[in-house]
Amino acid sequence: MSSPNQYFVLIVPACAALLGVAMIYCWSRLRDHRYLLWIASGYIATAIPMGIHSLMPNEQLARWTLPLSSMYLLGVWTMANGVALRFGGRAHAAWAWPIMLITLGLLLYFSRVDDDLWLRLQILNSGLALLVALPAKSILYGRTPTLPLKTLLRASYLTVLLYAFMRVAILATVIPKEVQPELTRSGFWLLMLATNMLISIWLALAILTSTAMSIVQSLDHERSRDPLTRLLNRRAFFEQVQKRLDLYGHSGWAVLTCDLDHFKLVNDTWGHAAGDRALKEFGALLARTVRQDDLAARFGGEEFVLLIRSASLHTAVLVAERLRSSVMNLHIPATAHTLTASFGVVQLSGNGDINQAIEQADRLLYEAKHAGRNRVVWKAS
Ligand code: GH3
Ligand code: MG
Ligand code: MG
Repeated sequence: MSSPNQYFVLIVPACAALLGVAMIYCWSRLRDHRYLLWIASGYIATAIPMGIHSLMPNEQLARWTLPLSSMYLLGVWTMANGVALRFGGRAHAAWAWPIMLITLGLLLYFSRVDDDLWLRLQILNSGLALLVALPAKSILYGRTPTLPLKTLLRASYLTVLLYAFMRVAILATVIPKEVQPELTRSGFWLLMLATNMLISIWLALAILTSTAMSIVQSLDHERSRDPLTRLLNRRAFFEQVQKRLDLYGHSGWAVLTCDLDHFKLVNDTWGHAAGDRALKEFGALLARTVRQDDLAARFGGEEFVLLIRSASLHTAVLVAERLRSSVMNLHIPATAHTLTASFGVVQLSGNGDINQAIEQADRLLYEAKHAGRNRVVWKAS
């Protein structure tokens, strides 16, 4: 007959299953985060045999070894693969299958031929620990620069890995070779289950928090970009300028404003979609021209502003000249239009007033338009 303790230990698989269901719900809303489905499947697949094990008397365990252990092994591999995916890698199936088949083969032998519960416990837990170790390479050396909470996730998974191997050692030393029927009702067993639960909840929380941070990160990125050209928008440009000036000081910066010439003509002649393609091409040209510390933004319509880290005005003018000649070589799909642009270039004054610099550069840009367009006008401050 079952004791109340047995029902109490069902809390552990129930928690694991609930975490799995919560992750599946998150995945149903965030289909891009495919690793959530893998990890959720792992939590649910291991919760089922854990629940059955908690209720089953020891005498029946031999008969059910294969199906229950298969679920444990598959569940742990699925979870390991999910975590590896989160780090941009995978838990190699080429290794997982031999580990699972050898473990199941040994379990079959020690349940049907030579019924030895103690050995089965060691074999199953060793197989599980090896599966947990599969994504170790991706987790330690995976290159995912944008993964939020990378260190926390890495430390959490390494704790799971350490615990998986420690469990093998603990089970081997603590449990006597003649396994007592009341083992699964003992305080030791409850402590193992409680540790399992704590580590599983911790890992699930670390994964979900990292997912939430990824979403915040991508929303923040979206909020600061112009949707057509993917350059910075006006608001983000000013934010980034402030950060650059705080970091490097006010000297050695140039501001460059530019405006596409007769752009209305592009729309009127080739259509608005062609105009959009031209803006996209021009945006891409700016993005590949600026260097890491520079900034490029679309201020609206066909007007763009650049902040350039250059030792002299002369260097900034050379950048503008290079851009001016590159614009003319841009190929705008489905048009035969030669795009040109006009530029105004100034150096940022010592007070770091970016608005004032943009106004001055705009005045020079206006002069460039009046002088016939397709040119760069600059002024030393
Ligand atoms: P100028 O050489 O004096 O700058 O002449 P312009 O025709 O470029 O200047 P104007 O300001 O008269 O026209 C700007 C045009 O840019 C008008 C507008 O339809 C177009 N435009 C602004 N934003 C977009 C956009 O997002 N997509 C497209 N296709 N066109 C845009
Ligand atoms: Mg224009
Ligand atoms: Mg304009």
